[in-house]
Amino acid sequence: MSEIEREAMEYDVVIVGAGPAGLSAAIRLKQLDENIQVVVLEKGSEVGAHILSGAVLDPCGLDALIPDWKEKGAPLNTPVKEDNFYMLGAAGEIRVPNFPMPPLMHNHGNYIVSMGNVCRWMAEQAEEMGVEIFPGMACSELVFDENGGVKGVVAGVFGLEEDGSIGPNTEPGMELHGKYVFLSEGVRGSLSKEVIAKYDLAKGYEPQKYGVGMKEIWEIDPAKHKEGTVTHTMGWPLGSRAGGGSFVYHLENNQVYVGFVVHLNYKNPYLFPYMEFQQFKHHPMIAELLEGGKRVAYGARAITEGGYQSMHKMVAPGVALLGCSVGMVNVPRIKGNHNAMLSGKAAAEAAFEAFAAGRSGDELTAYEDEVRNGAIGKDLKKVRNVKPMWSKWGLLPSLALGGLDMWTNTFGFSLFGTLKHGKSDAQATEEASKHKPINYPKPDGKLSFDRLTNVSFAMTNHEESQPCHLKLTDPDIPILKTLPKYAEPAQRYCPAGVYEVVEEDGKDSRFVVNFQNCVHCKTCDIKDPAENITWTTPQGGDGPNYPNM
Ligand SMILES: Cc1cc2nc3c(=O)[nH]c(=O)nc-3n(C[C@H](O)[C@H](O)[C@H](O)COP(=O)(O)OP(=O)(O)OC[C@H]3O[C@@H](n4cnc5c(N)ncnc54)[C@H](O)[C@@H]3O)c2cc1C
Repeated sequence: MSEIEREAMEYDVVIVGAGPAGLSAAIRLKQLDENIQVVVLEKGSEVGAHILSGAVLDPCGLDALIPDWKEKGAPLNTPVKEDNFYMLGAAGEIRVPNFPMPPLMHNHGNYIVSMGNVCRWMAEQAEEMGVEIFPGMACSELVFDENGGVKGVVAGVFGLEEDGSIGPNTEPGMELHGKYVFLSEGVRGSLSKEVIAKYDLAKGYEPQKYGVGMKEIWEIDPAKHKEGTVTHTMGWPLGSRAGGGSFVYHLENNQVYVGFVVHLNYKNPYLFPYMEFQQFKHHPMIAELLEGGKRVAYGARAITEGGYQSMHKMVAPGVALLGCSVGMVNVPRIKGNHNAMLSGKAAAEAAFEAFAAGRSGDELTAYEDEVRNGAIGKDLKKVRNVKPMWSKWGLLPSLALGGLDMWTNTFGFSLFGTLKHGKSDAQATEEASKHKPINYPKPDGKLSFDRLTNVSFAMTNHEESQPCHLKLTDPDIPILKTLPKYAEPAQRYCPAGVYEVVEEDGKDSRFVVNFQNCVHCKTCDIKDPAENITWTTPQGGDGPNYPNM
């Protein structure tokens, strides 16, 4: 596609992705100087359509960006009133009291929000300030200048033929050039991945680590609903099979976010993260809450878990990576939105200073310095050992030692230094011969659902005639290598049922990619043991349509 002549539009800053990071950057740029020309491009059909984190929001990012957010009507309507943490066994639970938890783990002062709605509100603020926001515009390519720096992106390519060639209905899209390009694509961004590789940004840092997060919204019996209650659990059903746990947040209107995260460094290729989530809802404590209610939405998204030691270099000539395109989630708190917002603010301030000094297209090192040494770095440094401890020693030792480490870090020191993560999540997968298949109970259709039924509640849609956006580097690898060696785990790790091995009598097995079901979680790009799957962006407007996730 790069040989095509396209129209170009010039901006000061081009922002890819209208999540909390990108929108914060746009707002901050306009606060600093209303004449800075800013464009935000979003692949979702509308702002918020691809935002999954039904979330407990630490408002520190918003406080720093828009201190009068309350007066301006930000949709932070549900303050956290009750904060619970349980260890689950198959038949019961033990409540872990709040007092041994380090202060950073407390949720009082935070809000249960729909981040989709927060982003919609932020987009309104940005537009009122003059930011141009184009939803339904996927950025599919980077544009480089003659010195090899990033000078823009290609967005808005539609109607390619199934084989990727140009057809009668192809719209070639346009180039959007900026003095700086901000990539705020969230976890495992497709353009961010190219930038990381091209400029070797990850060299010398620990590999990024991930989890897959799945979430349903339930409308429950009003008698059981406790607005403002936050519950986290660990233990059953995962046990020692993998790291992870659940969250249950009671928001407004008798709705509850019920979510489950499975760390993607699990070894057993037979593990089925989606089915772990479905099984979790049958725990007596959760089943009692959900019985009589109905699931109204489903979605999934990977989450970054590498934290402080995996935050690689964030800048290259003309480009800066923001928010979860770098990976700024505080894992024990399961919170990254506040840091995404702070990173957007920091990138905007660095660009503003650069413009004032007459610079453009260089490395915004002041941005990276602020992320590492400012509020984001401090937030992540305190919890940097929790994830590696969990990976190395399992749940219970890591709870005790991780708790101790977070406490000592609260006072500015650690007995453990900075632990390493080691292998990437793809490399962590072991051969099937070392493991036994896991028998998961069949979904009952009331509390638990089969994957395809649930995917219909993500309202995902992909124009069928376009090229498949899930690219196999070698199409033979799934059947010839990952099936015999790893029992082709894509059949199970994908929370949307995109990947199937079809076996028909008398015919060779086939690997089928039902890309229409994709919910843009990016797990396949992360977990495939052969690293043979690359997630690229489909045409704009495709993908899930989350109402208020
Ligand atoms: C299950 C789950 C639960 C979570 N719970 C919480 C929580 O309770 N509290 C909390 O603070 N954090 C939570 N997080 C983490 C939080 O979601 C992230 O830290 C946050 O979303 C990062 O913001 P971002 O702006 O970097 O990226 P995102 O929010 O992912 O936004 C990126 C945007 O860019 C768009 N985009 C991507 N690529 C392109 C492209 N090439 N072209 C155009 N548009 C593109 C996407 O569609 C998306 O809208 C959770 C995450 C998960 C997965």
